[in-house]
Amino acid sequence: MNKTEANQLNQVAKRLFTSHYDGCHYSDPDNCGACALTIGNTSPNYAGWARVYVEGERPIPESWRMDFYDELCSENEAYRKKLEESVKWFGVRWQ
Ligand SMILES: [Zn+2]
Repeated sequence: MNKTEANQLNQVAKRLFTSHYDGCHYSDPDNCGACALTIGNTSPNYAGWARVYVEGERPIPESWRMDFYDELCSENEAYRKKLEESVKWFGVRWQ
């Protein structure tokens, strides 16, 4: 990863946290990606959420720590490698 790629990933990830669908009342985690990422769920319900949090430099809820470790062990090798790369570049923040 280089600085340009990192900046791009950072911008895309940050946007996902605020991209509610038109008319969303900010309480619809089943249908809205931004809600799913930001509402205090007991476990994350958004595919690839770990990358979105890391690349968006967003603190991960402490209660999701074990879920995050699961992501680091994902059987999806392409996803896991991208996540590892992003963790190395951005680090991980905890709430
Ligand atoms: Zn929403």
